[in-house]
Amino acid sequence: MHKIAAELTRTLGSERVLWEREHLATYGFDGTAALYAEAGCVVLPKTTAEVTQVVRYAAEHKIPVVTRGSGTGLSGGSVPVPGCIVLCSVLMDRVLELDQKNLTIHVESGVVTQKVAELADVAGLLYPPDPGSMKISTIGGNVAENSGGLRGLKYGVTRDYVMGLEVVLANGETVAFGNKCVKDVAGYSMKDVFIGSEGTLGIITKVLLQLVPQPRAKKTLLATFSQMDAAAETVSAIIAAKIIPCTLEFLDRITMKCVEEYAHLGLPLNAEAILLMETDGHPVVVEEEAQQMAEIARNHGAMAVQLAESAEESIRLTTARRMAFSALARVSPTTILEDATVPRSELANMIRFIQQTAAKYEVTVGTFGHMGDGNLHPTFLTNEKNAAEMARVEKAMEEIFDQAVSLGGTITGEHGVGLAKKRFLPKAIGDASLGLMRQLKRTLDPDNILNPGKIFD
Ligand SMILES: Cc1cc2nc3c(=O)[nH]c(=O)nc-3n(C[C@H](O)[C@H](O)[C@H](O)COP(=O)(O)OP(=O)(O)OC[C@H]3O[C@@H](n4cnc5c(N)ncnc54)[C@H](O)[C@@H]3O)c2cc1C
Repeated sequence: MHKIAAELTRTLGSERVLWEREHLATYGFDGTAALYAEAGCVVLPKTTAEVTQVVRYAAEHKIPVVTRGSGTGLSGGSVPVPGCIVLCSVLMDRVLELDQKNLTIHVESGVVTQKVAELADVAGLLYPPDPGSMKISTIGGNVAENSGGLRGLKYGVTRDYVMGLEVVLANGETVAFGNKCVKDVAGYSMKDVFIGSEGTLGIITKVLLQLVPQPRAKKTLLATFSQMDAAAETVSAIIAAKIIPCTLEFLDRITMKCVEEYAHLGLPLNAEAILLMETDGHPVVVEEEAQQMAEIARNHGAMAVQLAESAEESIRLTTARRMAFSALARVSPTTILEDATVPRSELANMIRFIQQTAAKYEVTVGTFGHMGDGNLHPTFLTNEKNAAEMARVEKAMEEIFDQAVSLGGTITGEHGVGLAKKRFLPKAIGDASLGLMRQLKRTLDPDNILNPGKIFD
């Protein structure tokens, strides 16, 4: 048995320390293409006290610790550092409290996102962040990546719902930040330092989340366009009309074709783009906004606008968007899902640039995403074993990120930097910002044991 595994078995028992190669292989990658490394061992703690013991051992022996939730990350954040301890949170899955007076839910970090959504729903409440991976991803992973989702435009992202965190620091100390108060300005907002920190500053063990009242009504619309520009202009016109839909998503023609071949939903394959729109809130306002959005889409040249008349119909219309990634992923051996993001006003420019760049480098790229918040998912359909094609993919990707930054955007809107995008980070944020991040990392983790080599070297 691996020496580290043998030591940790004394703390956690043999059932919750994995070290055989067939086990390690399962924990060697996340949702990111072409990244793999083997850990020394994997530990599955059940309590904060056990996390502390593992971290203290790692700190004493200067062994890297890579925290992992469900491994659905798309930037290589939970890919092991060779020989490290992978600390997987999935057994820390207790719901500690649902407080209907304060509209909060307190959970351990390994709780699956969908569970929080379901519990909120039963209580007549809503947990708005809804990453596409929510049936599998953990709340800890969502906080560590500051994940977004389809409802981000109106409701914001994970950060907007985190009221408190319990974190185990690199020296094994446990610290709690935040509380149930709607207002609290006592000192720096330390919880915000850990949100989006990708496992590099501390291990999140408990999360206090805010819930909101459920909207009383929702309407779903789907519009098809023969021109991508018309879809982008529709988005701008909806926002300019002072409507903030809860969903404003799009699929380009390549993505539509893949979805249609996969699910036979009857999507119009002669269209250049489809736009999925949802509004929620008071029934009267929802009805009015839905009609307004349909009219705006028609005025901007939509070929057709469908308005769901029932909840079932609404689910049918949203299916195409929900399955976009899976449909693209089955087309080629390697799927690289990116999330270049630009200000909304630059959407049409950016989408055009992605299409031109794909043609220039002769690579296939399907683009879909959160059009309402400028967060695009250009998805490369490729084969990691084809070195020449991968080299062209890399060049295309670099140009796409450069363009996003030059349009006032960013290299990642929600998937994080991890390993996959760290070489682009200096260009995106600049030296001063990067320098501050490095200082923060050195202060909180002087021996660089927490997820070393992620975000920056
Ligand atoms: C099909 C699909 C759809 C997706 N859709 C979306 C989407 O709509 N929006 C979106 O934002 N993302 C999306 N993602 C990306 C991914 O699901 C999210 O980043 C998610 O939050 C990762 O959660 P996880 O539990 O799988 O974390 P992991 O992948 O295991 O880890 C992600 C990062 O968080 C760190 N981490 C995990 N748990 C902890 C913890 N307890 N403490 C400290 N650090 C921790 C890890 O070290 C790593 O750096 C999607 C992924 C897939 C595969």
